[in-house]
Amino acid sequence: MKELTKTMGLNDCTIDFLDNPAKMLINGEWVSAQSGETFKTINPADGSFLNEIPLAGIADVNKAVNAAKKSFETVWNNTTTPADRASLLWKLADLMERDKQILMELETLDNGKPLEKARYDVDSSINHFRYYSGWATKIEGNTLPVANDSIAFTKREPLGVTGLIVPWNFPLMIASWKLAPALACGNCCVLKPAEQTSLSALYLGKLIEEAGFPDGVVNIITGPGLPTGQAISSHMNIDKISFTGSTKVGRQIMEAAARSNLKKVSLELGGKSPNIIFEDANLDHVFESIVWSSFYNTGQECTLGSRIYVQRSIYQKVVDILKTKADSLKINKGMLNPDLGPMISESQLQTVLKYIDIGINEGAELITGGKRIQGELGNGYFIEPTIFAHQNDQLQIVQEEIFGPVVVISSFDTFDEVVARANNSIYGLAAAVWTNDISKAHRFANEVQSGTVWINGYDMFDPSVPFGGFKQSGIGKEMGKSAIELYTKEKTVWIGLKD
Ligand code: NAD
Repeated sequence: MKELTKTMGLNDCTIDFLDNPAKMLINGEWVSAQSGETFKTINPADGSFLNEIPLAGIADVNKAVNAAKKSFETVWNNTTTPADRASLLWKLADLMERDKQILMELETLDNGKPLEKARYDVDSSINHFRYYSGWATKIEGNTLPVANDSIAFTKREPLGVTGLIVPWNFPLMIASWKLAPALACGNCCVLKPAEQTSLSALYLGKLIEEAGFPDGVVNIITGPGLPTGQAISSHMNIDKISFTGSTKVGRQIMEAAARSNLKKVSLELGGKSPNIIFEDANLDHVFESIVWSSFYNTGQECTLGSRIYVQRSIYQKVVDILKTKADSLKINKGMLNPDLGPMISESQLQTVLKYIDIGINEGAELITGGKRIQGELGNGYFIEPTIFAHQNDQLQIVQEEIFGPVVVISSFDTFDEVVARANNSIYGLAAAVWTNDISKAHRFANEVQSGTVWINGYDMFDPSVPFGGFKQSGIGKEMGKSAIELYTKEKTVWIGLKD
């Protein structure tokens, strides 16, 4: 590993981290799987081996849950004060700031994303820990207006042990979206990163240890959906699952929760977000945004603006400019900091190629892209940004989430038509509208069925702003005050005042 990675100019700590076989964090100890089983994590830019990762089985999950339960009962929700929790979260953010370069490099190597995009992810993760550090001391209940012979008030209590299951597209960031509020609210955690991208979560575990979190408060276990993820979702002593991933697995998580202990479930799932451009929009702003809303993270983004609708008078202009911009995107290994890196895996690449074939066979017009990139980048999972034009919303490529750099674009005539078409989806994660008519923008925000609406912008995020999907895009909202509600339960207390 040393020889290979030195040629990339990696930080020495990144090299050391990769040179030692990975271990999981359970009850404050770094351990292998009890079975001794492991799996390999690879660099999607060239298919090269990065590290051997423990494959956790049911016994490891049990151990992690027992540790979390014990810490919850004896320390984290007992002797630790909200102010202690706030200062630990802030300290963790400081350590992440110190080791930002290492976290960025691990994310880029493991996931493939360009180094500067990994910087955005790490910065956003740090912001999340800082934001929820502030919340730890401000989680309040209410006093309620009951009759004079009694008092009623509510308290917000932590749920207990939370299982946090994370996807591979924004590994550190989505882990942070879950860990920060769960810990601020006083829960203990069993975090499972996706099997494709375990490294940044494991490195975060080192920082959690260094920050001084008590043993067992955060446990990090690694492995695939089966058996590891399923052992979490069906565990009798886990009180809540927070899951981000595909709608298909989201269903399985709900089912497992229902069949086991009816644990609380929040789901952040897939999307097929409409990006709508009216003829009165500021086109300079549209053109700055559209290439990123269409292809960011090589299209592996739940909020991708993958269904573009353009009002007829400007349709051809938008198609031409989007094509020019897509064709000029620099695609390369993430460590070279291109615009787009590879896809996460051969199988995800094949899924996307299959959808491209489907689009061609369905009769959509291929405007650009559509092919795997071979040649110098041949060992990695690279693919051309792809645009299809169509006039039929029933096509499979219009209805289904592709999760790659593929967008479909179509023209429309009227407001009512485009709102109906935007809402013609099983998903409802996000939507964007571009117009200089404030009334039209607000009418769109009222009528579109999606958890987030962006007006004259795209992919705007902040830790204080709730995010989550409608319809089959999810249940519950993360971020902001909403996440405090997600990771606490409301208890009602009555006091009788009679003599
Ligand atoms: P995935 O559903 O395949 O896997 C997500 C996680 O679930 C992984 O950690 C995986 O190991 C685990 N898992 C798989 N099967 C499981 C099971 N039976 N029980 C428990 N855990 C299981 O998703 P992915 O391929 O990693 O990510 C892509 C999907 O995630 C896309 O659909 C995307 O839209 C969605 N996503 C949504 C958001 C959001 O905020 N709404 C954000 C990012 C990604």
